[in-house]
Amino acid sequence: MNYNKKSVRDIDVSGKKVLLRCDFNVPLKGGVITSDKRIVAALPTIKYLLENNAAVIACSHMGKPKGEFDPAFSLEVVAKRLTELLGQEVKMAKDVVGDSAMSMAKDLKPGEIMLLENLRFDKGETKNDPEFAKKLASMADIYVSDAFGTVHRAHASTAGVANYLPAVCGFLIEKELGIMGKALADPERPFVAILGGAKVSDKLNVISNLLEKVDTLIIGGGMAYTFMAAKGWSIGKSLFDSEKIDYCKEMMEKAEKNGVKLLLPEDTIVAAGFPDPIDADIEVKNVLSTEIPDDMMGLDIGEKTREIFAAAARDAKTVVWNGPMGVFENPTLAAGTIAVAKALAESDAVTIVGGGDSAAACEQLGFADKITHISTGGGASLEFLEGKELPGVACLLDK
Ligand code: AMP
Repeated sequence: MNYNKKSVRDIDVSGKKVLLRCDFNVPLKGGVITSDKRIVAALPTIKYLLENNAAVIACSHMGKPKGEFDPAFSLEVVAKRLTELLGQEVKMAKDVVGDSAMSMAKDLKPGEIMLLENLRFDKGETKNDPEFAKKLASMADIYVSDAFGTVHRAHASTAGVANYLPAVCGFLIEKELGIMGKALADPERPFVAILGGAKVSDKLNVISNLLEKVDTLIIGGGMAYTFMAAKGWSIGKSLFDSEKIDYCKEMMEKAEKNGVKLLLPEDTIVAAGFPDPIDADIEVKNVLSTEIPDDMMGLDIGEKTREIFAAAARDAKTVVWNGPMGVFENPTLAAGTIAVAKALAESDAVTIVGGGDSAAACEQLGFADKITHISTGGGASLEFLEGKELPGVACLLDK
């Protein structure tokens, strides 16, 4: 996959109408935006386009409306917030590709910005319907994609429109491709990947692909226990996927063949059972991973393992991390995840956190500004690590 894509900087936008795919999928509570992080993140590309004399037709999906207008999912709240943040009116269309959107787009002047209604009000969006994509494209001269969170989906606004317009990326996607693309294609070594999370089955292709790229692969979290069981260790009541034992053995062989160091937790925090409720007080013990008692469950990496994983992150030149090391929702079982987040923050390496829980952990702990890059797309960043072709990236013009 070629990650070297043209950006807004490589194309003349002056006097042009630009269809800008943003990620305005913001959380709402009672019709009020509870975090405007995604709108703020879109500002650099929007401002660049407006300052360079483009007319910006912004579009996004929000939530999962059922292919028809639904006021609960209207982007009007986004237009209001974006107007405040930009200090300039964002005109709100009443539909996606209907009369309101079309005539507003036609009259839009350079330096002005409008927002289409929620793309998923049209059934054609998620089906990548060519007719819908053509209508979207007909409003503009150039397509700019800046919604990394949706590049793994081949939808009309993320891939289809590129069949009809010159397509380039905005600054958010440019950064994702620059940092993650470089890490996967030409990393500074040693390159260490740290994977966690609940299940092996969610990360099969990620593990296999990373074993072709990294020098060290660290596995923690619930998924580590199936690997331990594949080694013949007894794992007590820990999370276990019996169907993936052969897969884990295969991956351990692949690591050996490729000269990749595969690290599993040497010690484990165990308790009598899964905390219920998840944040309940819980009595825990630190045991060797080879000696997990039959009636106990592994719920976090142990103290010695934290040091080993942190040292690997410290000595690396590139670190990619995806997935918590334990049941981090419980304060007693969060220490492993915190130790990894801290190690990344303190490392001089290029550090990349792949969305989701690990990104939230870095932000909550106040480490976000010490990490080189926190991906804005959970699912997209995982597919990136799988080495899959991302439709929303493949459709952009090569440099
Ligand atoms: P994922 O969605 O795959 O990133 O996994 C995140 C979830 O894995 C979190 O909700 C954690 O509580 C859970 N998890 C992490 N470690 C363990 C473990 N040892 N046992 C059970 N669940 C775990």
